Amino acid sequence: MKYDHVLIRYGELALKGKNRVSFEKQLLSNIRQVLKPVEGIKVKRTFGRIVLELNGADPANVIGPLKHIFGIHSFSLAIRVDNEVSEMQKGALKAIKESEGDVRTFKIVTRRAYKPFPIDSQTLNHKIGGFVLANTEDIKVDVHHPDAIIHVEVRETATYITTSAFKGSGGLPAGTSGKLLLMLSGGIDSPVAGYLTMKRGVDLEAIHFHSPPYTSERAKQKVIDLAKRLNQFGGQIKIHMVPFTDIQTHIRDEAPSNFQMTIMRRMMMRIASRIAEERNIQGIATGDSIGQVASQTLHSIQTINEVTNLPIIRPLVTMDKLEVIEMAKHIGTYETSILPYEDCCTIFLPSDSKTRPSRKHAHKFEQYIKVDHYVEKALEGTEILDLTNLDEVEQAIEDLF
Ligand code: ATP
Ligand code: MG
Repeated sequence: MKYDHVLIRYGELALKGKNRVSFEKQLLSNIRQVLKPVEGIKVKRTFGRIVLELNGADPANVIGPLKHIFGIHSFSLAIRVDNEVSEMQKGALKAIKESEGDVRTFKIVTRRAYKPFPIDSQTLNHKIGGFVLANTEDIKVDVHHPDAIIHVEVRETATYITTSAFKGSGGLPAGTSGKLLLMLSGGIDSPVAGYLTMKRGVDLEAIHFHSPPYTSERAKQKVIDLAKRLNQFGGQIKIHMVPFTDIQTHIRDEAPSNFQMTIMRRMMMRIASRIAEERNIQGIATGDSIGQVASQTLHSIQTINEVTNLPIIRPLVTMDKLEVIEMAKHIGTYETSILPYEDCCTIFLPSDSKTRPSRKHAHKFEQYIKVDHYVEKALEGTEILDLTNLDEVEQAIEDLF
């Protein structure tokens, strides 16, 4: 008898009424996706819970990943026993013995989710608690402030015994709130922005602009690694890799230096919009935070935003850089983000960018830019990396260089 199951709770979803079934299905599929590498496990949906059968897998391999999947409120390791009082007693004893820390007091909390079970929960508490007392030393019952609470959940096909619960990430399961195209650079901010949209159930595709040969294979690999990390939160992100060298060269040759950044951003936004529209994606997400750099003043955002009428979601707008860094560390993207590989935005770009670029001037200078031609060309050259097939991704990267 051992912890061979995990009970997964998603309380908040109950509030979602008739959406509930599709939420549960999505959560189930996200959990399966994230835990795919752990051999042997089975994930099932029962009434109001998801149950994971470990089938011999080490619980340590599932606890970490489960903490990061959105839509999970909490989860507990569980011992599954038959619906027999003697089995419940043995299971509870085992759970007490495996409890961490110094357990001197306990209480049994039985929940009879399966009402036809012939013994009521109060009687079960006594029978199970009595058995534990009879088979341990120096341990007492304390119904008010116990060191350990043993939960005994009687369901139709089996009883699950659990002690402590791990906190989940909350939020909504990725894939239940439509889709956004995340503008993913290799920096610190955009992965965090992606994470926050995922927390609200958003499914992501990512778009990355790169400028070979000025940006390297390693810079590209970094973006792939960041997207893979985001997938650990329940996503299946594809990356649209957009060639941006020709556009940047053209802008450098044709636009005044203090407007190059603005025009470059407007080009990025036009391309992202086209891809989003073609793929039925409802909007674009970026890692902008107000006032952080020249391209992120409200004046700048106003001028860049003009080229699309898709909603642009900027989850970090009000966050300070330090808050973003803290969150990046928490979600495990920071170490990758700070690797010092060049970004397409930093090559060629002069340092005299306007902090208040007007739309009027942007229109004036774009007369010299072949906007449509370069948008089409970039779209033609875009390749899609599907991270669910990693071998293909590695091959695609090799083929490119
Ligand atoms: P980040 O840390 O996300 O790179 P940042 O503080 O460096 O952000 P900028 O370089 O001004 O800020 O970029 C603002 C946003 O524009 C980024 O958060 C990202 O969403 C998008 N972006 C920038 N560069 C790229 C790129 N090469 N490919 C895709 N999106 C990009
Ligand atoms: Mg950046």
